[in-house]
Amino acid sequence: MKPNSLKSAAYLAAFLCLAAPAHADWVRRVTDGIMGTRITVELWSDDKDKAEQAIDAVLDELRHIDESMSTYKPTSEVSQVNAHAAAGPMHISKELFDLLVTAKEYSVLTDGAFDITYASVGYLYDFRKRVHPDEAQIDKALPAVNFRHVLLDPKNQTVQFSQKGVRIDLGGIAKGYAVDCGIDVLKSRGFTRAYVSAGGDSRIIGDRFGKPWMVGIRDPRKGEGEVITRIPLTDAAISTSGDYERFFDEDGVRYHHIIDPHTGHSASKVLSATIIGPYATRTDGLSKTAFVLGPEKAMEIYNRIEDIDAIIVKLDGTVIYSNGLAPAKASGAQPGK
Ligand code: ADP
Ligand code: MG
Repeated sequence: MKPNSLKSAAYLAAFLCLAAPAHADWVRRVTDGIMGTRITVELWSDDKDKAEQAIDAVLDELRHIDESMSTYKPTSEVSQVNAHAAAGPMHISKELFDLLVTAKEYSVLTDGAFDITYASVGYLYDFRKRVHPDEAQIDKALPAVNFRHVLLDPKNQTVQFSQKGVRIDLGGIAKGYAVDCGIDVLKSRGFTRAYVSAGGDSRIIGDRFGKPWMVGIRDPRKGEGEVITRIPLTDAAISTSGDYERFFDEDGVRYHHIIDPHTGHSASKVLSATIIGPYATRTDGLSKTAFVLGPEKAMEIYNRIEDIDAIIVKLDGTVIYSNGLAPAKASGAQPGK
């Protein structure tokens, strides 16, 4: 062995010691059934019991958010708001109030593409049962879709709907919010390397010992394992919205779960949109925009927001990247290639 390689062998040994203390390991759990999606938590820990307890605490937090914000649960706070807020101001929890404020901010930021009152029409769809509203039903329900109908009073912490027929649904932001809350739970317990995901929304803290986490972006027209590209990430959130998540096809039309607030129809201007940013609440809140506004207009908005990057798969299958992702673009990732 040449002295040179001896030296590098010594470096390697030192690096390996650093990289993987014998008593520490990655702990990972995958759970189905909370927020109607798959939850994954993975973290680095030198104490398996502490890691498992922390994961339990993350899942408890996610269950709490599900209980409070699901429109599938008639007892949830959001369902109560939908039932009563048209009748007058309703006092709500600080947590829900703050998320409604955030949701409104995203409506403004996205020229109304993100709008939780989409549900005023959205509730007429049932993608599992292949049910969609007809034009007359949409026309009747559409005037209730407008984020400005949600009146928020910070002093009294109340919400009121300005008219009857308004419904809200936080399905477009709650999973990202839940992921951020999960990460906060882990941070407060001292974990510095972790990954939490809820369906298409994920966030990462730290790295994988000198290496980034690699997050795959699915090819929207292929199976789950088929990716168009993998993005290296540390300390970042990533959300993907796709028209393949919850949908049915009828007479050549795809009815899927992202609704254009202006038309009440499924928003079909792209196949998928992936947003990268510092918080999952933010990346989730922005990933629907491209479906509603189309790739060019949406990319203009994404490029305008400083801490956001985006990858959009257009209807013809080509991929476009935000300005901050020039290196990924250079690798030429296209679906099926
Ligand atoms: P996931 O539910 O897997 O996180 P998305 O982040 O793409 O998927 O969010 C889709 C959900 O967003 C829909 O199921 C619905 O609850 C909600 N939604 C649909 N259209 C809109 C819209 N225009 N604005 C805000 N939320 C929407
Ligand atoms: Mg989402």
